[in-house]
Amino acid sequence: MFLIKTTKALESLLEQNRKQNRKIGFVATMGALHNGHIELIKRSKRENDITLCSIFVNPRQFNDPNDLLKYPQPIDKDIILLESSGCDILFHPSAEVMYPKEFKEADIQLGNLAGILEGAMRPGHFKGVALVVKQLLDCVKPDRAYFGQKDFQQTLVIKALVKQFNIPVEIIVHDIVRESNGLAMSSRNIRLSDDDKEQAGFIYQVLMQLKERLKKVPVKEALESAANEILEHPGAVIEYLTVADAESLEPVNVLEPGQKAVALVVVNYHGVRLLDNILVSG
Ligand code: AMP
Repeated sequence: MFLIKTTKALESLLEQNRKQNRKIGFVATMGALHNGHIELIKRSKRENDITLCSIFVNPRQFNDPNDLLKYPQPIDKDIILLESSGCDILFHPSAEVMYPKEFKEADIQLGNLAGILEGAMRPGHFKGVALVVKQLLDCVKPDRAYFGQKDFQQTLVIKALVKQFNIPVEIIVHDIVRESNGLAMSSRNIRLSDDDKEQAGFIYQVLMQLKERLKKVPVKEALESAANEILEHPGAVIEYLTVADAESLEPVNVLEPGQKAVALVVVNYHGVRLLDNILVSG
């Protein structure tokens, strides 16, 4: 695996591959890799000739400086994992490389999408995400870029970004990779105690029950039952729980037949924010 730290070196390496007509798959991460990330890499490997993974803990998407300080960065372990997954190139830039002095912020228009749900809990977060993803896509120019459904709102933000700037890339959204108890894998899960990690599978159980209930009862009633089930777990605080349109993320009060929607939840469990979602349809 090539380990690249500057955009210049990356561009010249990728140019050689492009000249040979190789398709480039790209997985953007903040490191502290787990099986969720590795599944994205494996998929990219199946669907492209070259797979590039970036590891960059993007300071601009952290509204809480403490959260940034606490973010795990086990780079040596990540490199071993990437090598064993068959990743071809790791791009691991510094903040100075990603945001050089001459860096000019693009005028990214995310509209309502950036200010609701995750955007309301973390002001500025999606602007930071869009900025870094634009920088990375402009530099890597991949044929396909892979993102996880785990960060559902983020996938919509990235699709909006790609549309606004006409970036020639196919955005592929991969299913949520889960622990055996159903807990969505996340770099933040290492902050959970073993016991809490074991217990936290309840979030997915509640989402699956919610999906079933939505076939039988009105949205409001189904959400109330789901909220009560979550709150039965000591230490669980709901940041948001909603059923939203899968494209606009506007709240859905009545699920129309055939309508594609998503149930999104963030549970703060003993101080750790756990995001999850499930697709539902009318
Ligand atoms: P992160 O390092 O958390 O920024 O995540 C990098 C990419 O991996 C994003 O596209 C995430 O949505 C995706 N990802 C993170 N966790 C999972 C998971 N459990 N299943 C699938 N994709 C994931």
